[in-house]
Amino acid sequence: MKDCIFCKIAGGEIPAEVVYEDEQVVAFNDLNPVAPVHILLIPRLHIPSFDDIKPEHKELMGHLAWVAGELARQKNINEGGYRLIMNCGRDGGQEIFHLHFHLLGGKPLGSSLLGRE
Ligand code: 5GP
Ligand code: ZN
Repeated sequence: MKDCIFCKIAGGEIPAEVVYEDEQVVAFNDLNPVAPVHILLIPRLHIPSFDDIKPEHKELMGHLAWVAGELARQKNINEGGYRLIMNCGRDGGQEIFHLHFHLLGGKPLGSSLLGRE
């Protein structure tokens, strides 16, 4: 998708610290990390938000979730625990409209990232 920053990262047009990629998904470090591990996982396919997932995306979404778990193990945050977040839409706080998971970990995360103080 033209003018989508995450499509450009997936296409290599904009640099990013890519930690994993395959034919379907790309994972890279967040530009403004809020935890020692803060990885964004995206499908190469431009799906704007969680609300745009269609039945034909089921396998892709399953693969995205699988890769998130694999990266958590690779980064050694699986034993301590971690958080997988997907913001959806305006009230969900979504800023970039190319579907993505945030994989957060490497410290006790508390509950503030859930919007609770
Ligand atoms: P959202 O609020 O849409 O769930 O999160 C978007 C995330 O993308 C934010 O955590 C932000 O720091 C990150 N981000 C925005 N622009 C860039 C960029 O150009 N490169 C990288 N690596 N991360 C970005
Ligand atoms: Zn996109």
